[in-house]
Amino acid sequence: MDWIARLRAGSDLEDEGLRALLAGEGPDEELFAAADQVRREHYGDAVYVRGLIEISSYCRNDCLYCGIRKSNSNARRYRLDQETILSCCREGYALGYRTFVLQGGEDPFFADDVLCGIVRAISREFPGCAVTLSVGERSLDSYKKLYDAGARRFLLRHEAASEELYRKLHPPGMSRENRMQCLFDLKKIGYQVGSGFMVGAPFQRTEHLIEDIRFLQKLSPDMIGIGPYLNHRETPFRDQPSGSMIMTLRLLAILRLMFPWALLPSTTALASIDPSGRQRGLQAGANVVMPNLSPADVRDKYSIYDNKLSTGNESAQNKADLEKVVRAAGYRIVTDRGDVKR
Ligand code: SAM
Repeated sequence: MDWIARLRAGSDLEDEGLRALLAGEGPDEELFAAADQVRREHYGDAVYVRGLIEISSYCRNDCLYCGIRKSNSNARRYRLDQETILSCCREGYALGYRTFVLQGGEDPFFADDVLCGIVRAISREFPGCAVTLSVGERSLDSYKKLYDAGARRFLLRHEAASEELYRKLHPPGMSRENRMQCLFDLKKIGYQVGSGFMVGAPFQRTEHLIEDIRFLQKLSPDMIGIGPYLNHRETPFRDQPSGSMIMTLRLLAILRLMFPWALLPSTTALASIDPSGRQRGLQAGANVVMPNLSPADVRDKYSIYDNKLSTGNESAQNKADLEKVVRAAGYRIVTDRGDVKR
């Protein structure tokens, strides 16, 4: 069966087809080439850049895989104040960035009034720019206030669509249903919504990945963030193997074929696992990169996994180098807002 041609034609693949593609029976090179073709039909050779500002390493959650989980008493905690966040945006704006992503742990300090104040200040100073938030689960009312303040995009990976896997990755008290509800709430409000999951998370099997894909089909997000799970030495999963680049590339390509309009980042995790990860992610269908705009002295404190890159091409300040890498991969950096083209 030619699963790639079926996906290319817009057919919904049965689980059998997804299993075959995830097993590398595409074969991979054909899968990646088809994904690249579809991405070019929708987005040409454009690669959108987002300036990523990691606003806090405090987190009230205790996700078992994450280095900034509440129980990691060795994690170095920091939070950025409004003026520091604005100066990151100013630096990013001068470099040509027109989208700012504020990401952080679920830090109670960033209550609605504080975060809305920051979003309003960015929107006022940079009216042509998009503000994206990635600050975890909040109430419908809170998401509405942030939208009214000017935020227009929200990234919230669903993490695991399988209840069985979700339970193994998260402590009691965290709920897959609530996370999914948050995603539907965000969509209802009018945000451009991004979801996603880690590839190769502990205990994850192919069937779980298929459930993730099925959930994404139900949600129909604008953005899909996936990256390999990477080990962190100070989590309960310290002895678990990390995810692989090849599985991440296969999933990127499958997602590009199934969601041709999607904004798909070639993530820092993918670049951290292999020096060619960033380029190969782009060549497998990704069309977004999110270099780091956080102040240099806090970058290594946002340590969600070991050996996370934040310098070199990951640094927003090294835009010229990033441009070179993207050009060598066959694409072109575009610095406008980079809205989804549905
Ligand atoms: N608190 C926000 C949230 O929950 O969406 C944003 C911050 S959270 C650290 C961002 C993402 O990092 C998570 O969605 C998770 O998939 C990813 N992440 C956390 N630990 C990771 C690890 N060890 N390897 C790879 N990705 C990880």
